[in-house]
Amino acid sequence: MVKRKNVAVIGGGVSGLAAAKAFDERGHRVTGFERTHDFGGVWELSRSYPDVQTQSPKDLYCYTDHPMPDEYPEWPKGPQVHAYLHSYAEKHNLTRLFRLNTNIKAMERRADGQPGWTLTIEEAGRTRQEDFDFVSICTGQFSYKNIITHPGQEAFEAQGGQVIHSSDYTDPEMMRGKRVVVLGGSKSATDIAVNAAKNGAKQVTMVYRENVWRVPYFVGGINFKNLLYMRAQEMQFNQWGKSPLQRVIAAVLKPLVWANFRGLETMLKLQLGLKKWNMVPDSPIEKEASCSLPIVTPGLFESFKSGAVKPIQGTFERYDGDEITLTTGDKVGCDIAVLAVGWKLGIPYLGDEFKDKLIESDGQYRTYRLSVNPDLPDMGFVGFNSSFCTILSAEMIANWLVRFADGKLARQPSRDAMEKNMQMMLDWRRKERPAAQVYGGLCSAPFHFKHFDELLEDMGASERKKANPLAETFTYPDHKAYGRYLASAPQYQAG
Ligand SMILES: Cc1cc2nc3c(=O)[nH]c(=O)nc-3n(C[C@H](O)[C@H](O)[C@H](O)COP(=O)(O)OP(=O)(O)OC[C@H]3O[C@@H](n4cnc5c(N)ncnc54)[C@H](O)[C@@H]3O)c2cc1C
Repeated sequence: MVKRKNVAVIGGGVSGLAAAKAFDERGHRVTGFERTHDFGGVWELSRSYPDVQTQSPKDLYCYTDHPMPDEYPEWPKGPQVHAYLHSYAEKHNLTRLFRLNTNIKAMERRADGQPGWTLTIEEAGRTRQEDFDFVSICTGQFSYKNIITHPGQEAFEAQGGQVIHSSDYTDPEMMRGKRVVVLGGSKSATDIAVNAAKNGAKQVTMVYRENVWRVPYFVGGINFKNLLYMRAQEMQFNQWGKSPLQRVIAAVLKPLVWANFRGLETMLKLQLGLKKWNMVPDSPIEKEASCSLPIVTPGLFESFKSGAVKPIQGTFERYDGDEITLTTGDKVGCDIAVLAVGWKLGIPYLGDEFKDKLIESDGQYRTYRLSVNPDLPDMGFVGFNSSFCTILSAEMIANWLVRFADGKLARQPSRDAMEKNMQMMLDWRRKERPAAQVYGGLCSAPFHFKHFDELLEDMGASERKKANPLAETFTYPDHKAYGRYLASAPQYQAG
């Protein structure tokens, strides 16, 4: 019989909800902690920029048992995702498990020598400590702003200029009549540049460091989910753990794979006019595909064409009066600088002695299945296996993690097996697939199927694929089917 545990879930976003459900369902006593006033994480309304919408189509961005409403568009807007997450929490009665406005300040091993962790909890101005048998960390990759400064910023702000992080752009009115300079070339940067132009900014400049491949919602008129999210594509990327036979097959098929990706690049170049904008990336798309691959903001290239947004490749050198001097030597007039430079990955509340065991000197995380580390017992990550369909990834790993915690995986790994696997994955990321080092190596894209296959096999799921091999090879991950596969894993109750 599995002993019932006191489980802490830190974070109330997509992943915290998945973890709370998975542990609660098995009969554990769950306490969730969310530092803000609301669920949703990146989709919480006060930290979403106007017009934000998903990159993933709605049937790729949902829990297995809870499709997004029919009336939602193919790529739902931020408030719709937020409402959807609330409806999921209500459906599974998860809100009763969480304490909102509650911040985890520190996490240390229990002083009484028992397994588990002591959390330092800040709530309503008071700090206290509480012990837990197991901790599920669900604080995501976008919780701590990356704040950067440039020379002259103080004087720029003193004369009325504003410098904000992308997540602080919540009201389009703040752009009206202003000269806006967006720093960054990711999805948030392009979304904000286009949105500012639409909302009456006087002038919008987008300053970006490097050219990256961007995928439009429709490639050659076809929804990209039907072209790119399938086993047939995934198998063409340089996967981890290839057997000698798989290596031979990959070598034989290399010319075909090369031709496939050159075809895709040609389509993207033509459709987006990348040459005209001097935006053709240097490196081949198959080497770059990872969680950071942006989807094209609708209207982006049209705004370049109309002059509403001016792209400049470079970065900020300094603020000069009411201008920004760029590394290109250009001087750009500016009232608001929006720093769309992302987030700092980290777990600030975890003690340094544990972080040293978890994070290598080059920032790469040592995790088994992107969730656990044998040097940090009684804890695991949910949602650190981010992907192009992160809700499904979070639900899959949450179901894996509860079984791992309970010793109920069909393939429960030994310490030695975990060590070997973690080293293999680190070597693969460093030597064979540098793009997989993005976000500290905590990204399972574009290897969704392979990652899910491993998790399902570990869990002992008897059903793991569609019966029709063609459908399995040429269609995107089907959330309903993954619900069935999870249900086919051995079930149990703690008590
Ligand atoms: C604009 C935008 C669009 C995106 N679109 C997509 C998409 O289309 N498809 C896709 O797959 N992914 C997308 N993502 C990625 C997205 O991050 C994930 O899909 C998912 O929402 C992450 O959820 P999470 O719960 O892991 O993390 P988060 O949403 O970041 O939630 C973490 C939560 O932890 C809380 N927290 C942090 N520290 C503490 C602490 N110390 N104590 C208590 N609580 C704490 C935070 O307040 C937050 O609520 C997008 C991200 C952004 C920013």
